[in-house]
Amino acid sequence: MTARVLVVDDVDANVKLLEARLSAEYFEVRTANSGPDALQICTREGTDVILLDVMMPGMDGFEVCRKLKSEPRTQHIPVIMVTALDQPGDLLRGLEAGADDFLTKPVDDLALVTRVKNLARLKLLTDEMLMRASTEEQMGVATAMGPGLEQAGRDGRILLVEDRERAADRLVKALETEQHVTCEPDPARALLSVPDGNYDLLIVSLNLVNADGLRLCSQVRSLDRTRHLPIMIVVEPGEEARLLRGLDMGVNDYIVRPVDGNELLARARTQIKRKRYTDYLRTRLEQTVEMAVLDPLTALHNRRYMSSHLKTLFEESAHRGKPLSVLVLDIDHFKAINDTHGHDAGDAVLREFGVRLKRNIRGIDLACRLGGEEFVVVMPDTDLDKAYLVGERLRQCIAAAPFFAGERHGALEVTASVGVASLEFPDDTPELILKRADQALYCAKRDGRNRVVADAA
Ligand code: GH3
Ligand code: MG
Ligand code: MG
Repeated sequence: MTARVLVVDDVDANVKLLEARLSAEYFEVRTANSGPDALQICTREGTDVILLDVMMPGMDGFEVCRKLKSEPRTQHIPVIMVTALDQPGDLLRGLEAGADDFLTKPVDDLALVTRVKNLARLKLLTDEMLMRASTEEQMGVATAMGPGLEQAGRDGRILLVEDRERAADRLVKALETEQHVTCEPDPARALLSVPDGNYDLLIVSLNLVNADGLRLCSQVRSLDRTRHLPIMIVVEPGEEARLLRGLDMGVNDYIVRPVDGNELLARARTQIKRKRYTDYLRTRLEQTVEMAVLDPLTALHNRRYMSSHLKTLFEESAHRGKPLSVLVLDIDHFKAINDTHGHDAGDAVLREFGVRLKRNIRGIDLACRLGGEEFVVVMPDTDLDKAYLVGERLRQCIAAAPFFAGERHGALEVTASVGVASLEFPDDTPELILKRADQALYCAKRDGRNRVVADAA
């Protein structure tokens, strides 16, 4: 992946070293030698991740981080604090300043690339979320923005797999300050509980006494229902080879023992945010797809969807010599309902009409609203005679009971006219069938409405 990384350190040699390593991984690297320079680059040009040295003369890393996190323009830029190994208190101060992750000097290559990748991914998702939110705002759509961006990494559900009680206790204690943790010593049971557990993060110890934690990771990654769950592994120092295998199979992040609670919290937050943003965006995508094929008033399918569905069914039926019919329904004197009772009453009638249609057809039939007060029902495996009967049943269930149009208008008498046509000729097309159904509908209207007419062709 490519992302813009800003490296900030007052010592030139450190900057050069990090720049070289990140460039080798194809990140686009910018550098700064002081806090004020870094802030200026962030506000003017933006960046996707910042590697921020803690110890700098003048403005130190904590202050830079606080300033970035308090500015709306820069608060979503992930910050990785680069701290000295002999200053463990730095982690707590960094967390308080809003840092998203930590690296200790001398910076380990694998750690550097893993952390930068994780945060660059998170930044891409955050950008996408913010862009959508602003588009929706411009469009006047009320935005249900999922979790608020600030709180998005907290109150997550974490499954921890560790079979050594004391090691487990330490991790749970650190995480519990802001997350909900379930501990499961047995990886086999963990695997069973993951699909329905609604977890935001799985943390797996690679030092289980009775099992191989990596096996669990690979199983979780390969199951359809769990492959999107972020995984973090906990390793002993010097376990490089197994760590690499884990990252290779798609483990998202790792932490080395002895685990620092603040570091663990920061990383858990990043993974949980990422999971939630991804879920949110996926749901939005599904909704967008739905909006493109459904009529918003009646929630029936729209004309666009019906056309493509009818085309598919038509080809299948024509190919296999099976019957196929369509009904075109039009509400009688609907304009009068609008004129007398108002547009809202008209809308209520259309919704109820949709409900009655749906309730009186089979699951494989497709009911759709063509537009206005015109509806179509597509019925596979149905010949003209049967389709006529369905049309008649629908007509009756419309006319038989009045429509309730809200407290103010009460019940309204509604009737509809119906035209029926079927696939009949060798050179038939979906358009021709619809056209014949339309002509039949016209006859029904002409002959007095509230009736069904089958195409006589
Ligand atoms: P006919 O029996 O010949 O079908 O007469 P009609 O009045 O039903 O047909 P016409 O096509 O003259 O009028 C349809 C009306 O439907 C006109 C239009 O304002 C109204 N209409 C179209 N879409 C909507 C809608 O979404 N909501 C409401 N309330 N009315 C709509
Ligand atoms: Mg009408
Ligand atoms: Mg009409």
